[in-house]
Amino acid sequence: MRRSRWYARFRWPLLLGAAAMPFALMEGGPQLLHNQTAPVVDGIALAYEGRYSRHPEFPRLVAEAGVLRRRALAQVEDRLGLVPRNPERIIVRFADGLMPDEPVATRRTRYLNGRTVEMLTVYLEPLLLGVVDLERVLTHEMIHAAMRDRMGAPYERLPQWLREGAATWGAGQLEEKAAVLIAGKAFARQDPATLIDGLDTEPHAMDDYFEDAMFFRFLEKTGGTGAARRAIQGVVEGRPYRRAFEDAAGASWESLQADAEAFARASIQDALAASGFEMYRRASERYFAEDYEGALAELDAFTRARPDSWLAPNALFLAASARMMLERPAEAVPDLARVVESFPSYYYLIDDAQYRLSIALIRSGDLERGNAALTRFLNDFTFANAPLRSDAAGLIAGAACE
Ligand SMILES: [Zn+2]
Repeated sequence: MRRSRWYARFRWPLLLGAAAMPFALMEGGPQLLHNQTAPVVDGIALAYEGRYSRHPEFPRLVAEAGVLRRRALAQVEDRLGLVPRNPERIIVRFADGLMPDEPVATRRTRYLNGRTVEMLTVYLEPLLLGVVDLERVLTHEMIHAAMRDRMGAPYERLPQWLREGAATWGAGQLEEKAAVLIAGKAFARQDPATLIDGLDTEPHAMDDYFEDAMFFRFLEKTGGTGAARRAIQGVVEGRPYRRAFEDAAGASWESLQADAEAFARASIQDALAASGFEMYRRASERYFAEDYEGALAELDAFTRARPDSWLAPNALFLAASARMMLERPAEAVPDLARVVESFPSYYYLIDDAQYRLSIALIRSGDLERGNAALTRFLNDFTFANAPLRSDAAGLIAGAACE
């Protein structure tokens, strides 16, 4: 079978690289706030003058962010009983140019005009693409900020699983994390059960947030509604964290940890069964065995039978790849467009899907839409891995020379 020379080049090594890309809501991150005298309105710094300042969505985003920031503060109080001492010193700012492996939002303590400020930075690329939801992102970062505000520097010494678990669970991000992380493991042909590898792992990456947040869900299950809130309050009041969790759960630290781990593992098995994992796995293995016709039939059957499965985006992407391998690029276009537009939270797929969409369009003869898709890829998918971006830039430059 004849294969396109440069499509074949990008087959799996790049895909797996993209699948491994952490894309987390972690703390730490870049240096911020270049303009320290910029006005702050409703807790939103108006200093942003980046690539998206003329984007049609940007003014709405800024206006909405003030409202969502207040709502995030209210949610942190409702859900975790946390009220920051200085809420006016929690400031949101926007940035662009999200790089691979960088978190989509960060929280950092800054010293500004002689006082401490909690600076929450939100990147615009994932926001405008729909990878993340602004309200949940702000709530997540607000939980970090509120705990830091109440505890001071000792907050930074809490284990990372505790900080990220409280923020992820408290912001209601567990479901979306579970879907994307489990599907991401399945896509990379790794056992999703490897998401559960103990709370205190170093380095702590986005993959770990699922287990972190599941610990808090288990705490609520075993200690009753409000157990997570009681534990977090105990931690904020300065109690040793293990003691605070033991009291909230009514169990020893050792059994709490072991039972939470078993609960998380069982949840993954349930999710895999509910999402038709075996059917997906059989179909995808045919693809990897280079039986593209057979894979295509099974992948299409999967997405027809289970359009709402957590694994549907993976199946769509692989079906499009099989169509490309079978030299049917025009048929790959709708599947790839659907991955980007309908499943934007699948960050490990959408950059690759957008790139391949442009290739599929060009190879099916639609140069205009192909180049528009490439331009969009370079402009908005800054977090895609470097080889993919440099190939896309090369294609654009090549087209300009012809
Ligand atoms: Zn975080």
